[in-house]
Amino acid sequence: MKQAIPILPIAPTRSHFPADEARQPWLALLLDVQQLTDHAVSEGIQRETRKGKTLACARGCASCCRTHTDIPVYPLELMGIAWYATEKLAAPLRAHVQTQLQQHATRDACPFLVDEACAIHPLRPMACRHFNVFGRQCAPGEDAFHSRREAVLTPIKALKDKALRVMLRHHDIKSETERRRQVETGEVHRLAQSLRDLRWETLAARMAAFDKIR
Ligand code: SF4
Ligand code: SF4
Repeated sequence: MKQAIPILPIAPTRSHFPADEARQPWLALLLDVQQLTDHAVSEGIQRETRKGKTLACARGCASCCRTHTDIPVYPLELMGIAWYATEKLAAPLRAHVQTQLQQHATRDACPFLVDEACAIHPLRPMACRHFNVFGRQCAPGEDAFHSRREAVLTPIKALKDKALRVMLRHHDIKSETERRRQVETGEVHRLAQSLRDLRWETLAARMAAFDKIR
């Protein structure tokens, strides 16, 4: 699932796509949300590391991308994934992803898993960013959340919740009080869809259409 970075820095760097962000303001908001999310994760990892735990996630370790079938994706994240896959993925990765998107209904793994790495790593959803495991790497088919919950990272709640509140600006909820309420009650999660249940064939078609006009 992860692409390297055994221990993230305390304040992770925000991704920048200046021209694309200027053209699509929602993208700037999403990248802000991702930075807050990564901050919640990196602070959580640092906290556990200070207790003597060692992060197991590393490049090439990706059984979680096959095992997890209930990865939530929010509308803003979906827009980011679609944009990145359509406009940023280059050959030969692009062709791999297009094929896997087309075959999504018959495959077990996440359609973005290519050669044991995430093809959309800069735009991967919050849920994938959150899921980190300490100690030993997950065995094939193991969902550490159920088999050894104590080894699974709990991101820093205040930062995780802040990321969700910022995300809610995309839904035109102008009141911070209302955004806070939706996060605290869990109502925000009603916005999410399951990554595995989405009709990714339509993204493959969108990528093909983009290829024809560029
Ligand atoms: S240790 Fe588990 S959660 Fe971490 S990258 Fe490997 S399979 Fe995924
Ligand atoms: S989007 Fe898919 S391949 Fe990427 S980290 Fe999440 S589950 Fe893994």
